[in-house]
Amino acid sequence: MSLTGFAGADPPEGWPRLRGTPRPERLDAPLDSLAGVGPKLAARLRKLGLASVRDLLEHRPRDYQQPVGESRIVDLLGEQEAVIVGEVRNVSVRRTRRRLTVLKAVVADESGSIPAVWFNQDWLADKLVPGTRVRLRGQLRRSEFAVRSYDLPGANGAGSTADLAPIYPAGEEITPPRMRALVTAALAQARDCLDFLPASVKVREALPGRADALVALHRPRTLEDAEAGRRRLAFDELLVLQLGLARRTRERERETAPALAPPGELIERYRAALPFRLTEHQERAIEEIDRDLAREVPMQRLLQGDVGSGKTVVALYALLRAVEEGLQGVLMAPTETLAEQHFLTVEELCRELGVTVGLLTSSVGKRARDAAAGASILVGTHALIQEGVPLERLAVAVVDEQHRFGVEQRAALAQGRSPHVLHMTATPIPRTLALTVYGDLAVSEISKPPASRKPIVTSWIEERRAPEAYRRLTRLLREGRQAYVVCPLIEESETSRARAAEAEAARLQRAELREFRVGCLHGRLKPADRRELMARFTARELDVLVATTVIEVGVDVPNATVMIVQEADRFGLAQLHQLRGRVGRGAEQSYCLLVSRPKEELTDAAVRRLEALVETTDGFELAEVDLELRGEGQLLGTRQSGLSDLRFTKLRVDRALLERARAVAQELIDVEGPLDDEVERAFVEVDRAAAA
Ligand code: ADP
Ligand code: MG
Repeated sequence: MSLTGFAGADPPEGWPRLRGTPRPERLDAPLDSLAGVGPKLAARLRKLGLASVRDLLEHRPRDYQQPVGESRIVDLLGEQEAVIVGEVRNVSVRRTRRRLTVLKAVVADESGSIPAVWFNQDWLADKLVPGTRVRLRGQLRRSEFAVRSYDLPGANGAGSTADLAPIYPAGEEITPPRMRALVTAALAQARDCLDFLPASVKVREALPGRADALVALHRPRTLEDAEAGRRRLAFDELLVLQLGLARRTRERERETAPALAPPGELIERYRAALPFRLTEHQERAIEEIDRDLAREVPMQRLLQGDVGSGKTVVALYALLRAVEEGLQGVLMAPTETLAEQHFLTVEELCRELGVTVGLLTSSVGKRARDAAAGASILVGTHALIQEGVPLERLAVAVVDEQHRFGVEQRAALAQGRSPHVLHMTATPIPRTLALTVYGDLAVSEISKPPASRKPIVTSWIEERRAPEAYRRLTRLLREGRQAYVVCPLIEESETSRARAAEAEAARLQRAELREFRVGCLHGRLKPADRRELMARFTARELDVLVATTVIEVGVDVPNATVMIVQEADRFGLAQLHQLRGRVGRGAEQSYCLLVSRPKEELTDAAVRRLEALVETTDGFELAEVDLELRGEGQLLGTRQSGLSDLRFTKLRVDRALLERARAVAQELIDVEGPLDDEVERAFVEVDRAAAA
């Protein structure tokens, strides 16, 4: 690809042409630099996240007004939305008893006349002097024209009544016409936008210039215009994101980590100690990890696999590879419960191998922490990093549930040291999202669980049939199985949730689960108590664990084969899938019973979620459904993912665009030698985005 010729490609025919040299710095001007914007309005705009001219330009309409034709007054029909154009004849204002003001203006065109009605806008009366020509958008109601929006003489740009007038996400405080007027003012500066896309790329990808795209976004003549504009803006933000990722990868290639020698005796003993053969997918992941560890470039790999697919075994393998060389490994979990759980699993296996394991959580005292820091493998929460335990021999870090870690924590781990890093996630995400969020990581996938495992049987029942669920539960408990009962999410705070869970545990102990031993796990338990509780459950001293969502990830008790989720309709899809993953971890058949409120009371989305869970246990499939139901922004915490930067992208439709942006980012970053000014500018844009 040629990287020359950055001058803007010709806009599609008929698009406004914008001339002159761009001065992008002018877009950083605060909004009160616009005519008519004072400190008060500027403050309101700031509340909407709009601080600069650029923000306003990039304020994406959430929709466009449906096109409706102009009608002659005599032709107005039914309740259809219509536009009429006419002259004001006379005006009256009336106050109703409920303090409502009704403004009525008789408007006439050559076909006839009609009273047009506004509510609570009496101040308009002054402007509607007889003889004024108005354009009104609204609908016929009881032989009057109920006005939705109007344009008076002098309105320019997208008037409020225009077809395809943009509808902005705006608070109560700024009226739609005001917002449109503001954007119109900002659009005058659209040509100051930097177009850093090579002309060749624009041609190849059929993308308009950036300034044209902004004009099309706010002033489309057709919906296709608007879409073409949006795609261009989406391409830019995806490109910036991908350039950032590509550059991060590059930078990392300059860091060094200890290159590890091939696996030796310890690994051999580890394999022998495992009570099962590794699956083909586990072996493949291990091979990929071995290849990374042999290099001095720090590993940055994502290990993706559904809950229970056997990632932990692979993670421990990577940690032991460090230990084998006399170096350290750390395993980091997002919560204390998880860290403790991991610790128990890892410690048990390591004891056999003669490898020391330390637990580091925020509740462990400083002395104990320093002592633990000397162990070969350290397990802990990210407190472990933040509290700055010296880990001089750190060679391999495993980060569990990486999407729960903020970017900052990821960076903190890397600070001053460059271990090999393996990120583990049990939340499979669609490929588009993976490329967006983890685009700088190599990916290993375990997409097939150990063969010994039977798929979890999931059913969904309404709460009036809940007794059936408990009968089934009782039967399985009598056979020696264990179970989880997950409490509803209704309570706001962790404390009231804990209280509700305790009450429910007590109730069940008295009623349905009279003959069994019931424990209660929640986020307000002291770590030591929680540990003891988990240990008792693992040792089968408890039959049922009533829990809040703290059991969501990581808990691993193969004999627990039943889960009842109360008010399952209140949970998110990913969360339910995670919860369900707590069962089905042994060779026995497992069951998940989703109990919901009556179907009639549920939203369509809730019904879809529950149906999807009954239909499949495939996390990737569920992730696609989730993406469809919720949209990208909410699928992952936006803060961690950089997805909050994606304003124009619709990942569900922009998959191809994303792949293209990724490829173009690669091309740009692969340019040898000094960069073209224009490419340089693209990176300036990356920095700006990173700083924002
Ligand atoms: P994940 O971390 O992906 O959720 P785990 O590694 O915790 O899954 O594995 C879940 C359960 O499956 C554990 O009890 C583990 O011992 C077992 N397991 C892992 N790999 C295999 C295998 N290859 N064959 C049989 N069981 C396995
Ligand atoms: Mg696990």
